Amino acid sequence: MNGQDNPSFDPRAWVSQSDEPPVTTPQSDSVTPLNIGQNDLRRVLLASGGAGLLLLSGLGAAWLMRAPLPQAEAAAAPEPVSPAAALSQRIVNLGSLAELEAALLANGLAPAEAAAASAAAQAAIGARPGEIRAVIYLDAAASAPRLMRLEASFLDSSGAVVTRQPDDTFAAQAVAASLSSEIIMRRGEMNDADFYSSAVAAGVTDSLIQTFAQAFVYDFNFQTEITVGDVFEAVFEQQVNASKQPVGAPRLLYAALTTSAKSKALYRFQPPGGEPGWFDGNGRSVKRSFMRTPVDGARITSRFGPRFHPVLHYNRLHGGIDLAAPVGTPIYASAAGTVVSASPSSCAGNMVVLKHDNGWETRYFHLHQFAPDIAPGMRLAQGHQLGGVGNTGTCTTGPHLHYEVHIDGDKVDPESIPTEEGEALEGEVLKAFITERDRIDGARAGRTG
Ligand SMILES: [Zn+2]
Repeated sequence: MNGQDNPSFDPRAWVSQSDEPPVTTPQSDSVTPLNIGQNDLRRVLLASGGAGLLLLSGLGAAWLMRAPLPQAEAAAAPEPVSPAAALSQRIVNLGSLAELEAALLANGLAPAEAAAASAAAQAAIGARPGEIRAVIYLDAAASAPRLMRLEASFLDSSGAVVTRQPDDTFAAQAVAASLSSEIIMRRGEMNDADFYSSAVAAGVTDSLIQTFAQAFVYDFNFQTEITVGDVFEAVFEQQVNASKQPVGAPRLLYAALTTSAKSKALYRFQPPGGEPGWFDGNGRSVKRSFMRTPVDGARITSRFGPRFHPVLHYNRLHGGIDLAAPVGTPIYASAAGTVVSASPSSCAGNMVVLKHDNGWETRYFHLHQFAPDIAPGMRLAQGHQLGGVGNTGTCTTGPHLHYEVHIDGDKVDPESIPTEEGEALEGEVLKAFITERDRIDGARAGRTG
């Protein structure tokens, strides 16, 4: 993917983007920033002092640039200054609107003008917390700093534009928030290390990687079934402001995984009145009544069946599977059910036993600790955290979860238990799902075309 999907308007990033103008392309539906001297803004210096003041400069430390005001763009502004005026621009990032007046003073404005312009902006915006990006336009021809225009905006692009009037007062106009959503697609291949580093290398936002893996918790074991060269694709949505700066956390919309054995593509969808979930292209939920493994990212170190016991030193049935993971890795209820017991025992250490609606039991051994709300009789939803992986009890040689499934009193192989298909959406809900699926696929096609 190219950088256009995710342009950075964080001024700190500009330092490495010397070929690109740091001023955004004007948006037709928002107040248009004046594009001044873009070609001159080749060097950006970060001043680390005071209130995080950022100075733009072609020379080094401090001074102003001049450039003609582009007339076509000025016309879109609410109160265009004279097209004949040459303006210089400074950008200041502030912790809050209350710092505006001081920032104007620091940029050389006369105290009365700094106070008047700041008051005009505050009157238009009102009391509102949040960081402010202030763009200060000065009359480059004046001998002393003379404010012509001031844009003060929050991250969502809302704020105010203050302009000098013919009578040398300042008028402010409020600017509405301007958020739009961008759909970003990332595709990559598994490297020889792990899924996390593969996904990061492909440009998947790291906060989404866990969500991606969880979407496949019913379909793939990431430790045993994913290998080098397997292909993944993530599509996510990011709210951006008028400057294309990300606002808020991205949201994963689509996750696809193709191995030599199978291929799965999942769509995020929130049924009306329901929880968001993952569905295949036909609107069938990925959720099954039992998870394949109740620990994310665990490695199966011992399967079900007869084996020589490393601690007890004789052959016996290994009545479950061992899932190795670092101490504290969350362990989940593999299906909805009721807590039968949660207590220490000698061999199994801290052990949780759950009884499920179909009569089956699941057992979780060697927990480092119990989740605080796990107590006998408690009803749990599937995926409720039971505690963390540990190394408690006498029958363990390293941090892992020993996981058992009991059907009618018999231990059965957790990897072999039948999993029925997930529930399918129907009727109007299915129609809504198809609309969302097609929106996501349309965006994917646009990105791949
Ligand atoms: Zn075991």
